[in-house]
Amino acid sequence: MQRTINLVSTNPILYNTTPRAKRMISVDEALEKILSHFRTLEPEQKPILDCLGQVLAEDIHSAIDVPPLDNSAMDGYALRAADIQGATESAPRYLRVMGEVAAGSVSETGVTPGTAIRIMTGAPVPRGADTVVRFEDTDEVSRRSSDGDLSQIGVLREVEEGRNIRRRGEDIASGDLVLTHGRTMRPQEIGLLASLGRATALVIRRPVVAILATGDELTGVDQPLSPGKIYDSNNYTIAAEVSRYRGIPRILGIGRDTVESLSEKLDRGMDADMLITSGGVSKGDYDMVKDILAERGEIGFWTVRMKPGKPLAFGTMTGKGGSREKAVPLLGLPGNPVSSMITFEQFARPAILKMMGYTSLAKPTIRAIIDSDIPNRDGRRIFVRVIVSKGNDKYHASLTGPQGSGILTSMARANGLAVIPESNSQVRAGDTVDVQMLDWRQE
Ligand code: AMP
Ligand code: MG
Repeated sequence: MQRTINLVSTNPILYNTTPRAKRMISVDEALEKILSHFRTLEPEQKPILDCLGQVLAEDIHSAIDVPPLDNSAMDGYALRAADIQGATESAPRYLRVMGEVAAGSVSETGVTPGTAIRIMTGAPVPRGADTVVRFEDTDEVSRRSSDGDLSQIGVLREVEEGRNIRRRGEDIASGDLVLTHGRTMRPQEIGLLASLGRATALVIRRPVVAILATGDELTGVDQPLSPGKIYDSNNYTIAAEVSRYRGIPRILGIGRDTVESLSEKLDRGMDADMLITSGGVSKGDYDMVKDILAERGEIGFWTVRMKPGKPLAFGTMTGKGGSREKAVPLLGLPGNPVSSMITFEQFARPAILKMMGYTSLAKPTIRAIIDSDIPNRDGRRIFVRVIVSKGNDKYHASLTGPQGSGILTSMARANGLAVIPESNSQVRAGDTVDVQMLDWRQE
């Protein structure tokens, strides 16, 4: 059955008629609704080295041949294959050496019948030569240790024409389509652009994500801790997550549990592409984020059928971004440090990747054998912090210890999140489950 979301609206009619009750939705439903608010951002031209992790927004055709000239794949002698037909160790073919050519220069002399030119790896093959013979297949070493006369050389082995020559355009021909729009820039793509002589590329820009922690109990890391307070960790976790997925984090600070404080802080994030708050979305007198959002935006409050991290707010916040009025998507994560991180991974990460032009948004997942029983009594999707290790031929996932949603050390120990589906009421030790990899480091 299709249900409608309860959006709180600035529209008084809608506001009065729409109850602000939270609704229960699945992780997949929440993700789908969230992603529908995000679009791929516009492209920007940047130096290639600054493009790492960004998505190419143009097709790249080569303007040159790579390599630009026939060149030697070995250190040896450039010669004509016809001149060394039948050469053996006992019956070498002797050629007059006309000179030497190193990588980066071009030989003025050509190779004529009965002659050779000493050549280094990467050097252009001299005119007239059709083959390169390695030093090891000549008598160069024995010449050096006897009279040192290198004005001629004995070739000890016959090789076929063309051997050890890298042909002009063998890798890329001028005009070839080398990279297509949509490709993620990794070190190899960046190197490839450099090999074509491209200094810049057009890539989808990185989203700016404004981040706000909320709570009267929160203290900045540079302040002493007074009674009743705790240090704010969410701003740091979330900002680091944003950077990790190549967004540009902007921490707005710590919002106090008053409408004025939160409103004023959020105002400073209105020029961002996305706002992320943490805390203030669960039940309680001091939970202000939702009140602000009721005034300033179109926001839904959801109870997502997941554990940890049930309460979530999502919608758009309206205000002045720079000189113009705009609406910015806002994701309100739960305050508990583990919940905020896991909900970030499930909802904020795909939103950031979508803005960056990625089409594959799912977290890399493997199958692993879990070492503990995990009951799932109320049909939620459970994310269990695990350490994944490779057994003989299978992956194993062991729990990191206490799974309380405030226990950040259990997240620090984990390299994966085992995903227990809503439909599975009881996972037994030895069962195989999906594990989202937080990273690929193995313990
Ligand atoms: P809330 O969602 O605001 O009710 O917060 C839930 C729990 O998370 C409370 O114990 C808060 O103290 C804690 N919490 C909220 N925000 C942060 C933060 N930025 N850093 C660390 N803990 C937090
Ligand atoms: Mg709070």
